[in-house]
Order: sequence, then C-alpha cells, then structure tokens
Amino acid sequence: MTATHHDPDNPCQPCGACCSYSRNWPRFTIEDDAALDLIPDKFVNERLSGMRCDGERCSALTGVIGEATACGIYEIRPDVCRTCQPGDPECAMARRKFGLPALPAT
Ligand code: SF4
Ligand code: SF4
Repeated sequence: MTATHHDPDNPCQPCGACCSYSRNWPRFTIEDDAALDLIPDKFVNERLSGMRCDGERCSALTGVIGEATACGIYEIRPDVCRTCQPGDPECAMARRKFGLPALPAT
C-alpha cells in the first residue's frame, strides 16, 4: 500500500492493487489521534476504524489499477499502508487478484 505520486521508479505507482484488495486492509492500528486527525473525514469510515472504501477500494486511491494510481493522502497514510511492500506476500496476493504478475522481493 504504497501508491505514491511523482515517482516513476516506484512499482506501486502503476499498480495500486493492495489499495483495492479488501476494505479490511486499510485499518487504523497504532496511529495516535494527532495523526488520524490529519486524514480528511471524507476518507474515514463510519466506525472511524479505517479508511472508507467504495466496495473493496480505498476512497483515497485515484487512478486505474494496473495502469497509474496515486494515494490522495500519501504523506499522512495509515501505518498499515506503509507495511505492504512491493514483492512481499500481501503484495503478490493483491496483484494476483488484478491479474498482475508478482514482483521480485526487494
Ligand atoms: S500491490 Fe505491491 S506493487 Fe502494488 S501498490 Fe501494493 S505494494 Fe505496491
Ligand atoms: S490510504 Fe492510500 S496507501 Fe492506504 S489504502 Fe488508501 S490509497 Fe492505499
């Protein structure tokens, strides 16, 4: 979950799969209130337990999966979004769902 802007070398930019895999993935975990307060309300779910999703897709994700994507709150994204890394098992699982090949571990 590391879709970012302005970085053509980042394999997440033309992907976004893990940001659209499951509404249960972008949950808040160890963030403190100050960090969560930075996230615009429109992107937070009703239970205030994680990112609001449209279906399984995080509402902060823009673009087209597998083509070009970006996280609308990249600098302040939840901690869990920072833990999914290109090439890890969750990355491979998410990419498989969208017919994208697994990436080599980094
Ligand atoms: S599935 Fe992997 S490559 Fe795609 S955005 Fe997530 S971490 Fe990046
Ligand atoms: S907050 Fe950003 S990085 Fe996290 S799931 Fe949503 S679009 Fe992806």
